[in-house]
Amino acid sequence: VLNVTGLRKAFGNNEVLKGIDLQIRRGSVVALIGPSGSGKTTVLRSLNGLETPDGGSVTIGATTLDFSASVSKKQVAELRDRSAMVFQHYNLFPHMTVLQNVIEGPVQVQKRPRAEATTEAESLLARVGLLEKKDSYPFELSGGQQQRVGIVRALALRPQLLLFDEPTSALDPELVGDVLTVIKELAQEGWTMVLVTHELAFARQTADEVVFMDGGVVVERGPAAEVLSAPQEARTQQFLQRVL
Ligand code: ATP
Repeated sequence: VLNVTGLRKAFGNNEVLKGIDLQIRRGSVVALIGPSGSGKTTVLRSLNGLETPDGGSVTIGATTLDFSASVSKKQVAELRDRSAMVFQHYNLFPHMTVLQNVIEGPVQVQKRPRAEATTEAESLLARVGLLEKKDSYPFELSGGQQQRVGIVRALALRPQLLLFDEPTSALDPELVGDVLTVIKELAQEGWTMVLVTHELAFARQTADEVVFMDGGVVVERGPAAEVLSAPQEARTQQFLQRVL
């Protein structure tokens, strides 16, 4: 589903991505881990068309963008349509109800009929136990509830690839479990996903593969249990010792 080659991105003279390669098969879950500032979020944002890389290419499904040439807005829009992102700070629209937040993309961007989008949104909200909150506003919800709405909003776009950017790091500890449970269920259902996370125990349970990034490069990758329990590279070992 996903193929990234040689992805490069600099902000001014800060080279954040120095040639990232990443492949993900349909239905598999990849956890992207690494120290703060290693470029994990920038990788996700590049996949979702929120950043324009300086070089390299991204393929999602049938769409390939080669960033070493110039890319049009239309191409970026097509790439963006293939994935959906769940943000660390939920990023719900504060002036819209839960239901409006969920159907906004399907109706306004994807031009799907409102009635159909609403029915689908309601059944997704029911799945995560939030149907009765559909007419509430984000400020009336807990962080965990807001993040579950964030996940539903991503699912409603029917993406080929789900991108999670530290989805639980802004939550109070007692609210983390509910959100992780939803993500784990989606993984079991066969969604293809990239998960930037600091929850290493969760990564071990949920991810098929772990990719460790540091300083804008992929240092090590492999089956989750191997990378997390028996890392080969010194930098991975140091990182895991520090965080475990
Ligand atoms: P964290 O775990 O802290 O979120 P990360 O691995 O996700 O870190 P990124 O958020 O991708 O790292 O950031 C990598 C580097 O890029 C950082 O040094 C950051 O300051 C820089 N950076 C990210 N976005 C921008 C931007 N829009 N403008 C300038 N610098 C940026």
